[in-house]
Amino acid sequence: MTGTGLPLRFAGGHYEETPPVTRLSVDPVSLERPLAGLPGVGKVTARRLAAFGLTTVGDLIDHFPRRYEDFRDRKDVRDLKLGEEATVRGVVERVSADRTARKRVTVVRAVVRDGTGAVEATWFNQGYLTRVLEPGVLVSVRGTFRPHGGRATFLVRSHELLGEEDGETVHTEGLVPVYPASEQVSARLLRAVMQSVRRDMRRLGDPLPARLRARERLPGRADATLAVHQPRTPAEAKRARERLVLEELVLMQVGLLLHKRREQGRVRARGFAAAGTVSAAFLAGLPFVLTDHQRAAIAEIDGDLCGSAPMRRLLQGDVGSGKTVVALYCLLRAVESGLQGALMAPTETLAGQHAGTAAALADGLASVELLTSVLGARERREVLARIASGETQVVIGTHALLQEDVAFRDLGLLVVDEQHRFGVQQRDELVRRAERDGDAPHVLHMTATPIPRTLALTVYGDLDVSTIAGLPEGRQPVVTRLVEEQHRGEGYEFVRRQLRKGRQAYVVCPAIDESESISAATAVAETERLRGGEFRDFSVAVVHGQLKAAERDSVMAAFKAAVVDVLVATSLVEVGIDVPNATVMVVEGAERFGLAQLHQLRGRVGRGTAKSFCLLFSGSQTGTAEARLGALLETNDGFELADRDLEIRGEGQLMGARQAGVPDLKLARLARDRDALLRARALAAEILSADGELLRPEHVPLRAAVEAAFGDELAWLLRA
Ligand code: ADP
Ligand code: MG
Repeated sequence: MTGTGLPLRFAGGHYEETPPVTRLSVDPVSLERPLAGLPGVGKVTARRLAAFGLTTVGDLIDHFPRRYEDFRDRKDVRDLKLGEEATVRGVVERVSADRTARKRVTVVRAVVRDGTGAVEATWFNQGYLTRVLEPGVLVSVRGTFRPHGGRATFLVRSHELLGEEDGETVHTEGLVPVYPASEQVSARLLRAVMQSVRRDMRRLGDPLPARLRARERLPGRADATLAVHQPRTPAEAKRARERLVLEELVLMQVGLLLHKRREQGRVRARGFAAAGTVSAAFLAGLPFVLTDHQRAAIAEIDGDLCGSAPMRRLLQGDVGSGKTVVALYCLLRAVESGLQGALMAPTETLAGQHAGTAAALADGLASVELLTSVLGARERREVLARIASGETQVVIGTHALLQEDVAFRDLGLLVVDEQHRFGVQQRDELVRRAERDGDAPHVLHMTATPIPRTLALTVYGDLDVSTIAGLPEGRQPVVTRLVEEQHRGEGYEFVRRQLRKGRQAYVVCPAIDESESISAATAVAETERLRGGEFRDFSVAVVHGQLKAAERDSVMAAFKAAVVDVLVATSLVEVGIDVPNATVMVVEGAERFGLAQLHQLRGRVGRGTAKSFCLLFSGSQTGTAEARLGALLETNDGFELADRDLEIRGEGQLMGARQAGVPDLKLARLARDRDALLRARALAAEILSADGELLRPEHVPLRAAVEAAFGDELAWLLRA
């Protein structure tokens, strides 16, 4: 949401270039005004509000109610019923204060009379009221009429003084907003202060183009803002919220699409030739047939590759869905177009594994080279020379691929595997490193963390998305079981039966306090324990983050070669290890893992045709841990789980949207506002295509609103 009001003015759906000051336009300075000095905001209150994150008028206006209390049931005194909560208005007659003998609580009592009768109202522990509640004062009180101390009294929950007969109420009547509050900053205080900025709300300009607002029947921003803070009816509150949510999402989507368009217009890519004999030979030689989803993804990517706008695409597919084959196909498409391809993996282990896959599936079709850190200086120089000359057509490696000294002759495609923790900005930086002389490679990002479409549109809103849903045929779904502490022994016996059949197993130890060294120590200790105990008849090895790359590789190789039966690991194995003979996964302390991570771990088994199992060893569980594990037992579908995760956790923590460079959403909630997001995406695309001129620098309002929405974090997106 825009934190600032901007000089906005509409004329027939277009913005005037230099908006003169009119009634409609808001002086931007007005929203930047400090709260200190507003009626009711003294120094102390201002300091408390600031500590709570609210310093300006704009901050306050953007502090939205969490919900409303429905206090519309105002009653005449005569109609009060015992046990019922209600609001009454009346004139204060007598006021008295007592202290209870036992608990020393101050009790203030006042008789409140309206045209129909009088009732005694009671407050606890608010002694100061004797100075405020004078006979003759008009009050509105919210509370419950009930017996207390041997008589019926009106126990007051909240009250307010009214200046005049039909005075405005803020706390006790109608729909009362409940704001996110703190110990120092009460919802009551916020409601009071909010009254002082209603004039500013009334003058808020509207960043959404007038034509679009009219067509979509959206209330104006000022009206919506006033209504969201003080609605007359629930329907009005709902409509107001919807309008503000839509605006927030439209601004975000405009920003992301704008960024995408800029990126694609900034540099040119070499369009690939139409699919030829090399890629055809690759497909013909595969030991399996591609799934429909793989073929569809390939078609989408092929469409991009032939164009001169650099491809920026995300290929998402569940663990084991077969993204690597798609990547290899694309790399060969670069080769047959006379260009080079590069595949970047997050770890050396994975890079090595990809190189192995390439050797197996694309043998003889291209010259493939693995660039790793273990190469000696001379070897490395030779590899680099072959890359520079173009003799090497496909290079596989880690981040080191994009180091200064690696010069490609003609890089046509960069595939980035499993970098799902990259945000927009990191992705851009990475891609820029692969550019040369204004030429950009096509880029394919791959992730095995399925995320809901809504989230994809935010975290990956700058990319096009292809999805491989489901797994290749013949895979059996992994059977998942929760093993509670008292059944641990049976769990191990089950694993041993699998091992005796010649299968292999993973045992994953939980990460402890984010400390890799402590986690490693735990994994090592667990290995010792299992070697001497449950798995004494089998060979047990350990991998963790503290091992040197070479050591880790040799352990992995031993596991792959089935020399090792049981691999104990920290959560390191999460990423892409492919050992089809491993059919059991034991996850220790499963309640400590996130849902996405557990799903990733589980994806390490079930890679062959044999039935596979995931045993979640779990101690005590909190409510959300139980929900996570429950979801995992119910479904194997990563997208379904991603949706559940979004519901369980909310988008705030999921994927760290913030870390991904996407602005915090103030009002919208992705799990709840899915439809609004899809609508916002469409509207944003429309604004950019039909009303592209709205974003030119001379048309300040929308552009400025987008900038404000993205704040400092993404301001760079909008700078050309
Ligand atoms: P991921 O998407 O997790 O990277 P991989 O590309 O590693 O998955 O594929 C997992 C396994 O499935 C590999 O052994 C791969 O050879 C195999 N595979 C890929 N596509 C198919 C298919 N269409 N039919 C059968 N097996 C396939
Ligand atoms: Mg993979």
